[in-house]
Amino acid sequence: MRLKKIRADCGILKNDYEKLLREYRNFKKETQDLKKVVSDKSGLYELMQDMSRYLSIDEAFFVFRDKIKKDFALQDCLLLKRDAEINLSPDYQVFTLKVNHEPLGSIAIKGLKKEDENHFYIMFNQLLLVLKRLHLFHKIQASSITDNLTGLYLRRFFEERLKEEIVRSRKFNLNFVILLLDLDYFKSYNDRYGHLTGDTILTEVGAIIRDNLRSIDIAARYGGEEFVIILPDTDKKGGSFVAGRLCCAIAAQEIVAYDEKLHITVSIGGCLFPENGIESQILIDQADSALYRAKETGRNKVCFYGEEK
Ligand code: GH3
Ligand code: MG
Ligand code: MG
Repeated sequence: MRLKKIRADCGILKNDYEKLLREYRNFKKETQDLKKVVSDKSGLYELMQDMSRYLSIDEAFFVFRDKIKKDFALQDCLLLKRDAEINLSPDYQVFTLKVNHEPLGSIAIKGLKKEDENHFYIMFNQLLLVLKRLHLFHKIQASSITDNLTGLYLRRFFEERLKEEIVRSRKFNLNFVILLLDLDYFKSYNDRYGHLTGDTILTEVGAIIRDNLRSIDIAARYGGEEFVIILPDTDKKGGSFVAGRLCCAIAAQEIVAYDEKLHITVSIGGCLFPENGIESQILIDQADSALYRAKETGRNKVCFYGEEK
């Protein structure tokens, strides 16, 4: 009888023990899962913090690339710029980087394991958040230095850049050219076709200027219908060539504004650093006096300071 009771008690104890063991194992697994969530979250936080240190998309991407290559043992991770033409082998997976429906490019990765996909998507979304912030930052920065109508730099920004160019050209013993452009008889276009048509002409001229310069040249809207350009590391021959090309390109362009098809010309005055001056205001004054001469002697032409034509 006693033995029977002891056996029954043992059975109960065994059940309780197994139950406790199961609970312990569940608890251990939950703790491990929790630890993983905490470490993933803090890893994400650190990634976000590291990427946010940079103001360029490329640098933020490098942080992201290093992290995911390490975490997922990827073979490769590339940033493809918007219009990049790269032939990738089919073992790359490509993810488009879009901010507010605007494509910024894509990233291509090689060697992502199926079990890492979800975690990768979470990190990819962190990258998108950082890019969104950077995109906005660059937009605000650009709008504070560019003119709405022409897309060229504002005068204030130009003046800063001119001072920097003087310092740089002095240091490296380089020439540069300043060109001042003024639309010919622009007032008569406004009077005849209206201010909105006048604005369209300014926009078109801004685009022609941009299309005819190198990326290192700096073009700004200097005043109402005046533009100014710095051509770094350029001598007088090069400057005359660019100015002549601009004059011809603007005169040749048919400008369609509302119902009108128009043509406009510009006069251009140029001067050379350091030959015609080594200070910003003097250089602008010399280009202006050359421009005045271009106007006086017929318009739709280029004159350089110190050159009697
Ligand atoms: P010139 O060949 O001697 O340069 O003659 P012009 O008519 O171009 O010169 P003027 O200085 O008499 O006139 C400049 C005109 O540019 C007057 C002004 O109303 C116009 N203007 C300045 N800023 C703007 C602008 O933002 N939009 C428009 N539509 N017109 C502008
Ligand atoms: Mg003017
Ligand atoms: Mg004018």
